[in-house]
Amino acid sequence: MEYAMCTLINGEGRFGNLVGTTAHEFAHSWFQFLLATNEAKHEWMDEGFTSYISDKAMNDILQQGKKNPFEDAYRGYNYLVKSGVEEPQTTYADRYKYNMAYGISAYSKGEIFLAQLGYIIGEENLAKTLTKYFEDFKFKHPTPNDFKRTAEKVSGIQLDWYLNYWTQTTNTIDYAISSITDTTVVLENMGSMPMPLDVRVTYTDGTSEDLYIPLRMMLGTKPTSAKVLESWPWVQPTYTFTTEKNIKSVEIDPSKLMADIDSSNNMLEVN
Ligand SMILES: [Zn+2]
Repeated sequence: MEYAMCTLINGEGRFGNLVGTTAHEFAHSWFQFLLATNEAKHEWMDEGFTSYISDKAMNDILQQGKKNPFEDAYRGYNYLVKSGVEEPQTTYADRYKYNMAYGISAYSKGEIFLAQLGYIIGEENLAKTLTKYFEDFKFKHPTPNDFKRTAEKVSGIQLDWYLNYWTQTTNTIDYAISSITDTTVVLENMGSMPMPLDVRVTYTDGTSEDLYIPLRMMLGTKPTSAKVLESWPWVQPTYTFTTEKNIKSVEIDPSKLMADIDSSNNMLEVN
């Protein structure tokens, strides 16, 4: 348990847990001691941001070599969605019906808010956003909108939709590959929250290509080496694109940083 200038840690238990808890309580020095958000009202900016930064730091310092150091958070969030008791993150910390729903919403879904923002605006822009957020709001009481505006200024991408869907609703993401016919791919938005898409196409000649489909209401694109396709308006349930070579398989979001609740339809291979 953390208090500014004073942290209490259970002395017993396994070494790994001690390291993890120490890293987590350290990270609270920033979220929310220096960046003093209202932790009863915006608990995900406190526990979620702390969980994000401590998982990232542990992966680097302990050389854990995880490609996605946040995967436990995604697993927890999926569990919460399937439990059917999820409430929006705007719920005050002490007003959740179930403690489990509070915990996963604040810690895991809050952690994914940042990990997934890296997917949306690019990792470099996310790092710049966190630095600018610290510079502009240290020793102040920032709100969710302050963080969103910081990310928008850094990336040049509109993010009102992201803050709204992710923190104010329990809408979920589910994209699928409907069909592949020679050089034509049909994607489908089966979920209730839209997202930009990273798509990896592997051709029958063995080569592969990364494609990027921005979400139209972002009014911008992240910096990417992928080929940028036409943006996808959120009102359209399907999206079709064509390639120059015959396709063997298509995969949505190989990074797995997008919190798609059904990954079974994110990969399709032509038989
Ligand atoms: Zn904490």
